[in-house]
Amino acid sequence: MRVLLVGGGGREHALALGLADDPAVDQLIVAPGNPGIASLAELREVAANDPAAVAALAVEVQADLVVIGPEAPLVAGAADAVRAKGIPAFGPSAEAARLEGSKTFAKEIMTAAGVPTARAHTCTDAESAGRALDDFGPPYVVKNDGLAAGKGVVVTDDRTIAEEHARECGRVVIEEYLAGPEVSLFVVTDGEAALPLLPAQDFKRVGDGDTGPNTGGMGAYAPLPWAPPGLVDEVMRDVVHPTLAEMRRRGTPFAGLLYVGLALTAAGPRVIEFNARFGDPETQVVLALLETPLAGLLHAAATGTLAAHPPLRWREGAAVTVVVAAEGYPAAPRTGDEIIGADRAGVIHAGTRRADDGTLRSAGGRVLCGTATGHDLAAARDAAYALVRGIELAGSHHRTDIAAAAVEGRIAVPD
Ligand code: AMP
Repeated sequence: MRVLLVGGGGREHALALGLADDPAVDQLIVAPGNPGIASLAELREVAANDPAAVAALAVEVQADLVVIGPEAPLVAGAADAVRAKGIPAFGPSAEAARLEGSKTFAKEIMTAAGVPTARAHTCTDAESAGRALDDFGPPYVVKNDGLAAGKGVVVTDDRTIAEEHARECGRVVIEEYLAGPEVSLFVVTDGEAALPLLPAQDFKRVGDGDTGPNTGGMGAYAPLPWAPPGLVDEVMRDVVHPTLAEMRRRGTPFAGLLYVGLALTAAGPRVIEFNARFGDPETQVVLALLETPLAGLLHAAATGTLAAHPPLRWREGAAVTVVVAAEGYPAAPRTGDEIIGADRAGVIHAGTRRADDGTLRSAGGRVLCGTATGHDLAAARDAAYALVRGIELAGSHHRTDIAAAAVEGRIAVPD
């Protein structure tokens, strides 16, 4: 199988590792990729957000499967353009990707499908935003309605900050605060059949103890030793299948990766958000544990044959990933600094580039992730931090508490 993977971040490096490992893959092409992916695949340039350019590259490389990593190409219609050329694409249509592209649309689908989620109002002016903030009270949750690369959400007790975010975004969804530990559940689906991957937890805030602003994600681990038994079955029954059924009913089936972000509240699991693609950095840990060949799985979802796919197999143990971020991230990351120690197994490249002089340089806010597995969560965590300690990048920072509460048994699901 010839596989074209679109994207160039940490998620795509993790996907590339999985795809390159699948014996059915003879050739892996990644566009644009990154220096970490360069040793696994042939790299090509592409304007990833231009569906016609993605489709033309898929034809040129004679791909048997195109896997689209990031949300922006999906929302722009890259999967549709590839499928129009008769090539299987893993990723939802532009219509279906609105589950991520518009928070209002996602709420509409959840309401129609009876999916448990936070009560919410869409607001476009200061007056309606003020009424919604009054209605729910603090902590205030204010979300940019459009795509914001995981950074459009403000959760705050400070009314002025909440009002300012609403004003800056223009159109926002203001919703009820959901209290409880968060879970990311990835589901591979062909629109009808659906296979859940292992639940993971990510860390959105920049600082230890969940302090500071939200980021794209500072680390993750899987599996979740504290998750209630039956959680995944419950979410498949109450969230995933009703959502997929509603999308089919509207004539816009969702096929690809449905990312369900949940809070486990005292009243049960509640959906915080849907994404239309693998999450970053949870993908790094979930795929590190997946034993089932990845390309075969994604190909089955892309060709409507997932019902016939064998059950997924998982490695024993646990995986942890820790993000190394550039100085100034998330507000104003500094780029262009030299990186030493990144060429080791388990170091995933997220925002790096190879300079003309051959040195590796930082090229984004989240620069690298140290990803490791271990026989249990504590061992995986130690190994991931050992990788991070081996990385030199001036001014960089990382959280020191990724997976710590889970290792120490400090996470409780409210009942
Ligand atoms: P989102 O981009 O919707 O995933 O939101 C980013 C982060 O903000 C989530 O991972 C949560 O930590 C937090 N968040 C979003 N919505 C809520 C909510 N209704 N209640 C509590 N926290 C939330």
